[in-house]
Amino acid sequence: MSLRDASIVSLMATIYNFSAGPATLPTSVMARAQADFIDHHGLCYGIVEASHRSPEFGAIIQRAETNIRNLTGIGDEFAVLFLQGGASTQFAMVPMNFLAPGCTAAYVDSGSWSTKAIKEANNLGSTTTVASSKASNYDRIPAFEAADIDTATPYLHITSNNTIFGTQYQTVPDVPAGVPLVADMSSDILSRRLPFDAFDLIYAGAQKNLGPSGVTVIIIRRELAERGASSLPSMLDYRTHIKAESRYNTPPTFAIYMLMLVTNWILDQGGVDAVEQVNRQKAAALYACIDADDFYRGTAEPGSRSIMNVCYRLPTEAKEADFGTVAKAAGFVGLKGHRSAGGIRASIYNAMPLSGVTALVDFMNDYRQRQG
Ligand code: PMP
Repeated sequence: MSLRDASIVSLMATIYNFSAGPATLPTSVMARAQADFIDHHGLCYGIVEASHRSPEFGAIIQRAETNIRNLTGIGDEFAVLFLQGGASTQFAMVPMNFLAPGCTAAYVDSGSWSTKAIKEANNLGSTTTVASSKASNYDRIPAFEAADIDTATPYLHITSNNTIFGTQYQTVPDVPAGVPLVADMSSDILSRRLPFDAFDLIYAGAQKNLGPSGVTVIIIRRELAERGASSLPSMLDYRTHIKAESRYNTPPTFAIYMLMLVTNWILDQGGVDAVEQVNRQKAAALYACIDADDFYRGTAEPGSRSIMNVCYRLPTEAKEADFGTVAKAAGFVGLKGHRSAGGIRASIYNAMPLSGVTALVDFMNDYRQRQG
């Protein structure tokens, strides 16, 4: 390890970044990227300088796709795409492709990102909200039954993890046979074992569990893509990107390279099941600290709690501000809740080590004791 690598390691060992995204990345990935930035595997040029048509980048995108296939266990009936525009572009691209005139798409409203997805779909066609937890300030995943969903709906859209409110589906919801299930998995993709083939379209911005911002992963059932509207702009038609294997135009090469490294790292950890085990340990430690008495107050209903974004309040907003300042001075950054929700949010994605959460819990216990 060079001196620069060592300096990254020591810096990252003392600062824990709990930001909701872009978020902390594995230290080994950062060190690898640092070296490849200047000279990729002896090429004598850096990875950002490689053509997206070069064999070197071809191997990277291929490896990234293979990693996602291995981690999810999906078969060839699914295509894996690496697109730009973030999850926010998917809010529009999904209805553009699949919400035909005269049809009504079904959405579950479980927070701000669902609301944005619904707004985009309403700009393009008709939607119905089959369940919402808005009335309780999105403190839970709203319940619904498969029977609540019209079998003629072109798709049901859910947000598997609500980054802002710290709620998460505990299981994949039932949908009537034949209704495609679409999920925004931006903030929990590859953090736990799910039957990924129960979904027909999954999309996720990479900047939480998969790498830096700039690339959006899409896992789409090929048969669904074929049902897309005709006469779409090429860039907004899933078929374009499936046919061109995500290289119709210049893809975000560096972000895809980083995603490849991060997914290599997940595989090295033992895959999705292994990272899930650690993720559950991290979340359990934080929620136990919050539940110990009334000083900290978790905002999500226990049955809907997220293992990725742990949201909580302190007795007053002034104390929350003080907590943030003292925590930052102690090396815990990115803890401020989303501006629309307030409070504190600890985002503990795959790359946050258990030691970071243990250190935060120690800090929280100490802070509580000093206030008490
Ligand atoms: N969906 C969810 C669940 C998110 O957390 C975010 C971003 N935090 C988005 C969508 C929007 O993603 P992007 O910024 O990549 O458009």
